[in-house]
Amino acid sequence: MRILVCVKQVPDTTEIKIDPVTNTLIRAGVPSIVNPFDAYALEVAARIKDHTPDTSITLLSMGPEQAKNALKECLAVGGDKAYLVSDRAFGGADTLATSYTLTNAIRKLEEMDGAFDLIFCGKQAIDGDTAQVGPEIAEHLDIPQVTYAVEAEVKDGEIFVKRETGDGFEIVAAKLPCLVTVTKPAFDPRFPSIKSKMAANRAQIPTLTAEDLPIDRERIGLKGSPTKVKKSFTPPRKQGGVLIQEADGEAAALKLFAVMSEANFI
Ligand SMILES: Cc1cc2nc3c(=O)[nH]c(=O)nc-3n(C[C@H](O)[C@H](O)[C@H](O)COP(=O)(O)OP(=O)(O)OC[C@H]3O[C@@H](n4cnc5c(N)ncnc54)[C@H](O)[C@@H]3O)c2cc1C
Repeated sequence: MRILVCVKQVPDTTEIKIDPVTNTLIRAGVPSIVNPFDAYALEVAARIKDHTPDTSITLLSMGPEQAKNALKECLAVGGDKAYLVSDRAFGGADTLATSYTLTNAIRKLEEMDGAFDLIFCGKQAIDGDTAQVGPEIAEHLDIPQVTYAVEAEVKDGEIFVKRETGDGFEIVAAKLPCLVTVTKPAFDPRFPSIKSKMAANRAQIPTLTAEDLPIDRERIGLKGSPTKVKKSFTPPRKQGGVLIQEADGEAAALKLFAVMSEANFI
C-alpha cells in the first residue's frame, strides 16, 4: 500500500506576527516545528504501516528549503521517502493555490512511482488554521475524504476511520483511494531512535520546482490566489474585569447581582 502524508513546517508559537505591509507571516527569528496535527497524521499512517505488509509512507511538504528539517524529523518516525515542493513562484499562495500545487506534486509523484492508496493531512495547520488544504486536495483529485480522524484501519480495500464529531465519535468507511485529515488522537506520536534519526539526517530530499510539475502558472503563488488579505491585526487584550472574592457563596451571589444590575445586565 502507498501512503502519502502532507507535512507543513510551522512557527513554534501560536502568537503569530503578521507583516503589516504585506499581510503575510513574519517567520524570521521564530523556530519552526512539524505542524502537530501532521505529526498525528503520520502516526496514524505509521500504525497502518505497522499492520500492513509492503506499505510505504511518502512525505510531501511545500515551503522554503528549511522545511526539509521538518521532513527529516518525519523520516525518523515512520516516513520512507520525502519530497519538498519549493519555488519562488509558489510564494504568497493562499489555500487554493497551495492545494493546487500540492495536488500537482502528488500527480507527479504518482507518475514516477505509482498511485497513492491513502493521503493523510493534519486537520489544520496551527499557523494558517483554515483546515481547507486537505479537503481541497481531495476535491482536486476527485477522491473521497474523511475529516477529523482519530484512528484508522484498512481492511479489504476500505478504510475505517474513527472520527470526532460535535458530540462524540463515529466510524466512517470509505473506498480507497481516500484522503483523511487527522485531529488529536488518544495516543502520542512515536519517538525516533538514535539510528532512525541518524539515517533521516543523512537522507537526500529531492526538491520539485514549478518547472517539474504539470501546473498552470496562473493558478500558483500570489497570482493564483483569489483570497486577498485586506487587513490583519491582533485584537486588544480584554482589560480588567471584576473579581468577586466574598467570604461565602451568599455574599458572592449578592455582590454578583449588584455588579450585574449596575452594568444593566439584569
Ligand atoms: C493572500 C494570502 C497570501 C499568503 N501568502 C503566504 C506567504 O507568502 N507565505 C506563507 O507561508 N503563507 C502564506 N499564506 C498562508 C498560506 O495560504 C497557508 O499557510 C497555506 O495555504 C496553508 O493553509 P493553512 O495554513 O490554513 O493550512 P490548513 O488548511 O489548516 O492545513 C491542513 C493540512 O494541509 C496540509 N498542508 C497545508 N499546507 C501545507 C504545505 N505547505 N505543505 C504540505 N502540507 C500542507 C497539512 O497536512 C495541514 O495539516 C497566505 C495566505 C493568503 C490568504
